[in-house]
Amino acid sequence: MLLASWLSLSPLAAQDTRPPEAAMSGAAPAASAARLTPTAWPYERSFDDSLELLLRQGFDRPEQALQRVRAMQKDRAMARHSLPLLLAEGRLLVLAGEFTPAQALADRLAQHPEARDAALLLQAEWADRQGQGIRATALARQALAGLSLHCPSSASLQSVQASGAGGRSALPAACDFRLSWSALRLIERNQIRSGTLPLAEATVQWALALAQAGGDRHLAANSMGTLAMLAQMQDQAEQAKRWLVQARQLAQGDALALFKVKNYEAFVASHRQDHAAKLRALEECVELARQADAPRWLAQAQSNLADAYLQLKQPARALEVARQALPLFEQRGDIRIQRTIRHNMAVAYVQLGDYEQAKREVARIEAMSQGLVDQGLRVQELRELGEAWTEAGQFKEGLAAYHLERRLSAELVEMNRASALQQLQLKYDSERKQRDLELLQRDQALVDHQLANRQRVQQVGVAVALLLGLSLILVAAMVQRVRAAHKRLRANEQLLKAQSERDPLTDLANRRHFLAVMQEHARREFHGALLMVDIDHFKHVNDQHGHGVGDVVICEVARRLSLAVRAEDLVVRWGGEEFLVFAPGIAPEDLLPLAQRVLQGIGGEPVASSEGPLRITVSIGCAHFPLQPSGLPQHWEQAVNWADMALYTAKSRGRNRAAAIVTVKAGDRQALQQIEADFDAACSSERVQLQQVLGPGA
Ligand code: GH3
Ligand code: MG
Ligand code: MG
Repeated sequence: MLLASWLSLSPLAAQDTRPPEAAMSGAAPAASAARLTPTAWPYERSFDDSLELLLRQGFDRPEQALQRVRAMQKDRAMARHSLPLLLAEGRLLVLAGEFTPAQALADRLAQHPEARDAALLLQAEWADRQGQGIRATALARQALAGLSLHCPSSASLQSVQASGAGGRSALPAACDFRLSWSALRLIERNQIRSGTLPLAEATVQWALALAQAGGDRHLAANSMGTLAMLAQMQDQAEQAKRWLVQARQLAQGDALALFKVKNYEAFVASHRQDHAAKLRALEECVELARQADAPRWLAQAQSNLADAYLQLKQPARALEVARQALPLFEQRGDIRIQRTIRHNMAVAYVQLGDYEQAKREVARIEAMSQGLVDQGLRVQELRELGEAWTEAGQFKEGLAAYHLERRLSAELVEMNRASALQQLQLKYDSERKQRDLELLQRDQALVDHQLANRQRVQQVGVAVALLLGLSLILVAAMVQRVRAAHKRLRANEQLLKAQSERDPLTDLANRRHFLAVMQEHARREFHGALLMVDIDHFKHVNDQHGHGVGDVVICEVARRLSLAVRAEDLVVRWGGEEFLVFAPGIAPEDLLPLAQRVLQGIGGEPVASSEGPLRITVSIGCAHFPLQPSGLPQHWEQAVNWADMALYTAKSRGRNRAAAIVTVKAGDRQALQQIEADFDAACSSERVQLQQVLGPGA
């Protein structure tokens, strides 16, 4: 199991598909914001350099380093470094396997807001040493998120790196790049275990950029070795070689750094199945660790060497180096490496035929495996052990190991399947959400479209309504105008008609009007009284005073006549100086008083004229219809004729008087016609009785 001491390749952990930056600064944003504390982590580069050396020594001899740190803590001059010293103490305690006091220190650190990231990192390293890879990574990510606030981003670091600038000046004074590097180290390990190699590569590139910007060749060489390993794991053998050449160059003069690079070389060789090169590299590692006087590194190299010897079927040598390595890890409580060493020892015992010892080691491993998270590692060990048992002819043990491996494998597969299913579900959920979103957006677009259509329809509707309204108003206006015009026309017509039925000189109704009125009565018998009025000797007026005075007289007579009759009576200018009064609905006995009023009204006062006052009288012929006593029906024309005949009588009897027909003795229509034909004779024979009313002064 090469490099199993710090790296185990497990397909167990869930794939981290986030981009490197996001994946590495995985802490919640709220937590990051809370880290913006007024007091920053009291970082001082020169002090950190010396502390780093102390920690590197502490990897091999933690107790001694702890003593140094505690001595420094008591030094008053070191007061301002109390927090970095506290962290160093904690990290050394972890290296020494003193987990309980390390946890207590982490709690103490966490009470200082500026040391929260340091506390998180300490907890992460502690979890890592306990084999809790996932928890270690989560804590490391939280720490990194806070630490990164004081350091340049990965992208800007790598652009500086590409431009060849680099050096210490590349980092801000408060950037504790080694703490960030350590956090990245824990994260990259988990990414490698998860098999997310491109992500791991990005993480290591970031760590390398930090180490180079900080000018730490040791850390940079280490990162380059890791990059070589990752390149090889992705079958980029040439790239792996290039990284190793660069790493070796950087590590020159630093035995420990060189040791680490050689370790990576061994891994790369192992991956290429170059067992000889692998063995050579590991033997060089052991030699370098001895030179560097680094017992822990020596033990780790020996553990790896044991693995290599086993692969080369040299169990005795494997057992020898494994036994040399074991005590140190037992002493430091490093269970992970202890398990790996004991596993190698078990395989070696099997190969050596010492089955009892092998079984004892297997039992120890089982006991140590309780609560182990890394199932993949366990499966791989069981496979190796099973193969060893089988090769040794111990089929029963081989089968048992095989069955256990199968069972764990099945569990692993199930877990991976569940995890894959979960990921598929997540992917499906997000795709479904996307589909739902698209559907929603399409629906929304449809609704918008419909809304727009509806608005357009409404607009058209409003426009049509407006047009309709407008045309209605226009039509109404037109109708109004037509009506008005019609009304005016009718008024004009009526006026014309009125004018045509009116006498222009006297403004009385003319003969046409009387005809029109009579036509309305045509179907009925003629009822009422008729008075035919004629100015006496009018010719003299004209002759003596002229037509103008004649006109004045006609007008005055008309006025006086209108005043003398009742309001409902119709006064008509019948001819030049003749007037006809039609008094409908008048009682027969009222006819003579009416005639009397007319005679008096006209002749009572002289008419004033330009020629002085003129005495004007009229004669009247009148009758009431139907004629009494026969009551025979008469046409209006006949009635006018009777009145005219009576007028003639009035004239002949001396003028300025009225002659009213009172009775007409006619039994039938014919008799009546005979009387009409000779009115005077009928008067003489008293078939017609007339009553006479005299005018004023007659
Ligand atoms: P009598 O008493 O018999 O009715 O005699 P008279 O002169 O009144 O009757 P006659 O019929 O002989 O004359 C009527 C005259 O009235 C004739 C005509 O010149 C005149 N006359 C008719 N119309 C008008 C008019 O409008 N103006 C004027 N100034 N004279 C008119
Ligand atoms: Mg006349
Ligand atoms: Mg006359």
